[in-house]
Amino acid sequence: MSLPQISFVVPLYNEKESFQLLLERLNKLMDSTSLNIEVVMIDDGSKDNTAQLMQVNALQDERYHCIFLSRNFGHQLAFTAGLSVARGTEAVMCIDGDLQDPPELFADFYKLLQEGNDVVYAVRKNRKENAIKRAAYHFYYRLVKSISNIEVNLDSGDFALISRRVVDIMNQLPEESRYLRGLRSWIGFKQTSFEYDRPERAAGETKYSFKMLYRLAYNGIFNFSDFPVKFITNMGVATVLIALSYFGYTLFKRFVLGIPVIEGFTGLLFTIILFSGVQLVSLGIIGEYVLRIFFQVKGRPLFIIKNRILNKEFTEK
Ligand code: UDP
Ligand code: MG
Repeated sequence: MSLPQISFVVPLYNEKESFQLLLERLNKLMDSTSLNIEVVMIDDGSKDNTAQLMQVNALQDERYHCIFLSRNFGHQLAFTAGLSVARGTEAVMCIDGDLQDPPELFADFYKLLQEGNDVVYAVRKNRKENAIKRAAYHFYYRLVKSISNIEVNLDSGDFALISRRVVDIMNQLPEESRYLRGLRSWIGFKQTSFEYDRPERAAGETKYSFKMLYRLAYNGIFNFSDFPVKFITNMGVATVLIALSYFGYTLFKRFVLGIPVIEGFTGLLFTIILFSGVQLVSLGIIGEYVLRIFFQVKGRPLFIIKNRILNKEFTEK
């Protein structure tokens, strides 16, 4: 069996509205290039008929390679599953299934890959989303960058062309709470960015609930930074220093200046409430790391593949 040079990896969760358009655009792209391309589609436990649509298409088009996960594992794990089965010998292109990552940009990415880059990742110049969401993303990426132990690519998502050797390394990383853009950057090699205007999704609604977005944001912060724990330690040290100086000041007032010391109730209450809060937050932050250890040591597989359609033939061009 001959192998494709490039794999497109596309996670799909309830994407029946945009599916036809996705096929048209991918087919047009594959027809217009001399490269051998396969498209790996991952059904992330869709509840609509996305899985059937994928199946019907893959059975008649050998360029499509489908896996069906046993349930909804989420965008990051769907990509992880796709990367693990992609056969592209040169590189893997990660795109979303809602056409927010235009497949047509592949040619530009591929050129940069051939110039010696191992990872070409997309950077969003303009987001076609509402102002609050845009501002939140803007702030978030800058926060992660400032506290992170790795080089963070600002405003970039999972849309990227990744060389075979880097994909192989990503596949070996056992990390449980996956934040792919962080892992990709952590691996190193020569990486470069490509700016593009991110369009709106082709059809349907976002499949990312607020909860999922929140979890992703947490992974970005806690998986690549020891800042939160260091911050607690520093805060603890600062608090002790403040308390000691205040104690010294009170003694000085009482015994050197001879001023009687009467302290107010409000000040006392304020201090108690403030530090109870600080302690709870600190416990939560430490708990966050403990949780990550907890989930990691279970050693469960990251995803479960229920079914796979891999056509025997892959005709070379
Ligand atoms: N997706 C997925 N599993 C999920 C949620 C989303 O595979 O649990 C897919 C979805 O079908 C799409 C891509 O991941 O192809 C990006 O999701 P979405 O467009 O909803 O996210 P947004 O662009 O709004 O951040
Ligand atoms: Mg989208």
